Amino acid sequence: MTSRMNLGNFDVVVVGSGSAGACAAIASARLGASTLIIDRLPFIGGTSTGVLDTFYGFYTPGERSKKIVGGIPDDVVNTLKKLGPVLERPNTYGAGTGITYNPEHLKVAWERLLINSGVKILLHSLLQEVNVKDGRIDSITVATRAGLAKISGKSFIDATGDADLSYFAGFSFEKAGELSPAQTMTTTFRMVNVDTAKRKSFSKEELHSEMEKAASDGYRLPRREGSDHITTVPNTMATVMTRVDSIKIKDDNEIESVLDNPFFLSESEIYGREQALEYARFLIDRVPGYEKSTIYGLSTFLGIRESRRVYGDYRVTRDDVLNAQQFDDQIALCGAPIEDHHSGTGTNWAYIPESGAVGIPLRALQVKDSTNTLVVGRCFSATHDAHASIRSMAQCMAMGTAAGTVASLATKSSGDIRNVEFSVIKSTLVSSGSILEIPE
Ligand SMILES: Cc1cc2nc3c(=O)[nH]c(=O)nc-3n(C[C@H](O)[C@H](O)[C@H](O)COP(=O)(O)OP(=O)(O)OC[C@H]3O[C@@H](n4cnc5c(N)ncnc54)[C@H](O)[C@@H]3O)c2cc1C
Repeated sequence: MTSRMNLGNFDVVVVGSGSAGACAAIASARLGASTLIIDRLPFIGGTSTGVLDTFYGFYTPGERSKKIVGGIPDDVVNTLKKLGPVLERPNTYGAGTGITYNPEHLKVAWERLLINSGVKILLHSLLQEVNVKDGRIDSITVATRAGLAKISGKSFIDATGDADLSYFAGFSFEKAGELSPAQTMTTTFRMVNVDTAKRKSFSKEELHSEMEKAASDGYRLPRREGSDHITTVPNTMATVMTRVDSIKIKDDNEIESVLDNPFFLSESEIYGREQALEYARFLIDRVPGYEKSTIYGLSTFLGIRESRRVYGDYRVTRDDVLNAQQFDDQIALCGAPIEDHHSGTGTNWAYIPESGAVGIPLRALQVKDSTNTLVVGRCFSATHDAHASIRSMAQCMAMGTAAGTVASLATKSSGDIRNVEFSVIKSTLVSSGSILEIPE
C-alpha cells in the first residue's frame, strides 16, 4: 500500500459516474464538500452515454401524467437543450413520456455540470480494492494508467451500477438470479439512413409478428418484441432489441454472473454485437423504412440491467411499488411500471395504479453494513421486482441527488451517513428542486 501513488483525500468520493453517480457528485459539491468522481471509462455517464439515449421516469405514465423528478436532473436536461435538440416522446409500453437526447452531447453536458459544480473528475480508473475498518471505508485503490493509486475519503457513494464498491468492501448484496430470475442484457445499436416516415406506417404489433415470422424462417432473434425509436438525428433510429443472458447455472447449481467470470463477460460482449448485426439484417430485409439503412453505432458496452443489489437498511419490494407506498423518509418518487426483461422471448410488465408513484426511502440508500457508505442507481437496496421498476435514469438521478446531499451534509460529522437529521435532508432537497411528494 505504501508504494502506491496517493491521489488525495476528499470529503465525498463517488465511485461510478452513471446518471446516479454524476448527480450525486454534483449535489455533494454544490453543498460545499470536496468531491471526487471516479470512473473506469474515458467519459462520464455510464449507461446514459454508453448504451442509451432516452431518460424515462421524469413523468408518471397514464392519462394524468405528473412530473415527479426535478432539481439537478432538470439541469441535466436544460444543459442538453443548449447543445442541440431534445425530444419528448411517449413510450409505447406505457412507461410514460421519455426525454430523448444525443448521447454525445450528454457526455459533454455531464462534464460541464460536474466541473461547474467544482467536482474533481478521475477517468480511466478502475476500482480494485476497498479498505474497511468497523464498517467504515477509509480508502480505496484504483488501477490507473500510471499504476495503482490510493484515494481516501470521509464518505463514499457506491454508484457503480454493479455494486463494485460494496463487493470489494465485503458488504452484503443479492446477486441477480439468486432469489428471482435475473434480467437479461442488451447491446443497443443505431440504424442510419432509415425512412422514418415509412417506418411509422408499420405498427409495434406488425413489427413483433414480423420478428416471429423471421425467427421461424431462420433469423437468430432470441427476443421477439424488441423496440426501435426515433432519435434526435434525422433518419436515424435507435433500438433496444438484442437479448443476452447475464447468468449461467453451473453443474453444482451455483449461479455464475458475467461479473464473476471475465471470460463470460467477454463472450457476452461479442455475442451481443453478433446479435445486433442479425437484428439489423432482419430490419433491413423485413421492416418498411429500413430497406436502405445501415447499422452505425453499437453501444460502447453491453447494457447490464441488473447484477448485484446491495442490502440497505430497507429493501423496496414489489408490494411497495404496486401499492404506491409512501415513506416518512422518502427522498424521491417512481411511477414507472415493473419492466422485467427475463430470459426467453417476451417481457413482463406490471403497472402502478393510474398516475401513482412509489416513494424511494433514504434507508434503501444506506448500506446496511457501513457507517459511511451510500448506494445509488441500479444497485440500490430493492428486491428484483421493485428494482425492475425503480431503475429508470430519472430515478437514478434523483437517488444520486439525495445521496450526494446526505454525504455532503455528513462531512460535518466525520462522514457518518446516519447522523444527519432527515428534516435537514428534506429541506435541502426540496429547496434545490427535488420532488419528494406526488403533486396534485
Ligand atoms: C439495455 C437497457 C435499456 C434501458 N432502457 C432505459 C431507458 O430507455 N430509459 C431509462 O431511463 N432507463 C433505461 N434503462 C435503465 C437505466 O439505463 C439504468 O438503470 C441506469 O442508467 C443505471 O444508472 P447507474 O448510474 O446506476 O449505473 P451506470 O449507468 O451503469 O453507471 C455505473 C458507472 O460505474 C462505473 N463503474 C462500474 N464499476 C466500476 C469500477 N470498478 N471502477 C470504476 N468505475 C466503475 C461504470 O463505468 C459506469 O460509468 C435501461 C437499461 C439497459 C441496460
